[in-house]
Amino acid sequence: MHHTTEKKQAGNELREYSIGEVSKKVDLSQKTIRDYEKMGLIKPMRLLRTNNRIFSDFEIEQIRQISRLIHNEGFTLPCIRRLLQLAPCWNIFDCEVKERCPAYEYPNKPCYEVRKVRGTLCGGACENCSIYINRSTKKQKVLEGPRQIAN
Ligand code: SF4
Repeated sequence: MHHTTEKKQAGNELREYSIGEVSKKVDLSQKTIRDYEKMGLIKPMRLLRTNNRIFSDFEIEQIRQISRLIHNEGFTLPCIRRLLQLAPCWNIFDCEVKERCPAYEYPNKPCYEVRKVRGTLCGGACENCSIYINRSTKKQKVLEGPRQIAN
């Protein structure tokens, strides 16, 4: 399509889409997609010069899954936030390759921590992932053990 650009990064073909293209692909209005961003559920990149949003296939898939949670499962925003913090990523994103992903071997560790050590099969960067954006620093402390009391 005309606005789509293709970019080579680290040997991989990365497609980029405008919000108009994404809107057609996921069958949601551009406003809904902007609302997801305002709610902190997605974080598309911005073009430096125009500040236009650009989306990758990874984000498009995340938008599909978030929309499924909201429209098919009836989740509210606070529910989605809790789900993103507590549920394993393969459940949230309905992952088809979970058996091959190292994150699946460590269900009690945040996937972004597993990724640092073992790598995961995710198609995008954690910085652009709703799980990472909504991660709870409080929960990480709990996972790390008893809280230190400052003197
Ligand atoms: S991209 Fe990062 S935060 Fe998102 S599911 Fe993969 S490892 Fe987890």
